[in-house]
Amino acid sequence: MKVFDEIESEVQSYARAFPRVFNKAQGEYLYDEDGTQYLDFLAGAGTLNYGHNNPVFKEALLEYIQQDGITHGLDLHTKAKREFLETFYEKILKPRDLNYVMQFTGPTGTNAVEAAMKIARKYKGRENIISFTNGFHGCSMGALSATGNSHHRGAAGVSMSGISRMPYDGYLGDDIDTTAYLDKVLSDSSSGVDHPAAVLVETVQGEGGINAASIEWLRNLQAVCRKHDVLLIVDDIQAGCGRTGSYFSFEEAGIEPDIVTLSKSLSGYGLPFAVVLMRPELDQWKPGEHNGTFRGNNLAFVTAKAAIEHYWSDDKFAKEVQRKGDYIGQRLETIVEKFGDGNMTTRGRGMFRGLNCVSGDLAGQITREAFKHGLVIETSGADDHVVKTLCPLTISDENLKRALDIVEAAVEKVLKGTEVPEEHDFFADDSAEAEAPKAELAGAA
Ligand SMILES: *Cc1c(COP(=O)(O)O)cnc(C)c1O
Repeated sequence: MKVFDEIESEVQSYARAFPRVFNKAQGEYLYDEDGTQYLDFLAGAGTLNYGHNNPVFKEALLEYIQQDGITHGLDLHTKAKREFLETFYEKILKPRDLNYVMQFTGPTGTNAVEAAMKIARKYKGRENIISFTNGFHGCSMGALSATGNSHHRGAAGVSMSGISRMPYDGYLGDDIDTTAYLDKVLSDSSSGVDHPAAVLVETVQGEGGINAASIEWLRNLQAVCRKHDVLLIVDDIQAGCGRTGSYFSFEEAGIEPDIVTLSKSLSGYGLPFAVVLMRPELDQWKPGEHNGTFRGNNLAFVTAKAAIEHYWSDDKFAKEVQRKGDYIGQRLETIVEKFGDGNMTTRGRGMFRGLNCVSGDLAGQITREAFKHGLVIETSGADDHVVKTLCPLTISDENLKRALDIVEAAVEKVLKGTEVPEEHDFFADDSAEAEAPKAELAGAA
């Protein structure tokens, strides 16, 4: 690990939890330099919904490169961009009756969030934006101000303004609908909360600990926004692109956000790519006003188009995600029933699920134990207390079962001291050795 210790910045995080040098990947498998195989339940923090090096997209990408297709074109019209726009319109927007224009931002999620916040403020002529407890929206200044996590916020070095924080669904207990509080605050001219331009929300909070808002809460949130003339921005960067069992995570709620951000699994191939979708009348940008050298990544246009055509031309894939999601949910429930100490619970929706261990120490022990047996799996949440099962949506049933067997055995080992039986060891097949990772788990993301 010499060069990584000496030359790479201390800011590295995931690398500390999985101290191997990875070299190859395919589908749900990761391989280190020694050829040891792992199951990937981190999947680029939700960037690899279709697995590593998906063969369908790889073929399209190789062909495009072979033909000297445009790789970088600023925001010039390209054939790859046209075909992506046409496909996104035909397969995603039109069937869902969604009327959005698409803005290509810089290729990171945080840049899409910046653009969404800017256009909302510009359109409404108001500064304030409502975001939620435990929300995560990125680490550049605007998005960071909307992010809850003190570990990330602490690095800003300046005060962050323009945001009012409200309690997310469940924050004050299961029986309290926090949208009623938001409604009250926005109705009261002396609440001290300035009339906001927008509400920025994740339907399932990924980095915040897989907190899934209820469908009813999401509907109520939209109603409160409409009542008070406030835009609704859904940050679908992690929850979108199929993770919850539909292309957009808000479909089940039947709501229609004014603005949507997408990134992570949008390109399908792990290529950097981010967009903002907005109702046409919100598109008040002047040419080049939100600029960026890498707005629209042509290689990502090619793979994103292939992903949408292959997986979203009918509802087969969505049904598969729902089926596998139900299975993950049942397995996690069983783990809680068998080994839970009364505090442990399950969380999430679709294939966006987690095991809330309450203690970050416990969750870290479980993921470290799982890694010893061949499973790359991470934690999230304020105290890194939620073990998140974020595998590729395309994972085989067999590997999904194997991975959850490892999680179950790791929980049993950590809580009951029972050794992990060999049949639950992913390494048992090739008898590869894996030493226990030594490094401490760092903060999320
Ligand atoms: C990851 C994430 C972001 C930030 O995306 P980056 O590409 O890391 O900048 C924003 N919002 C949500 C919900 C995310 O999960």
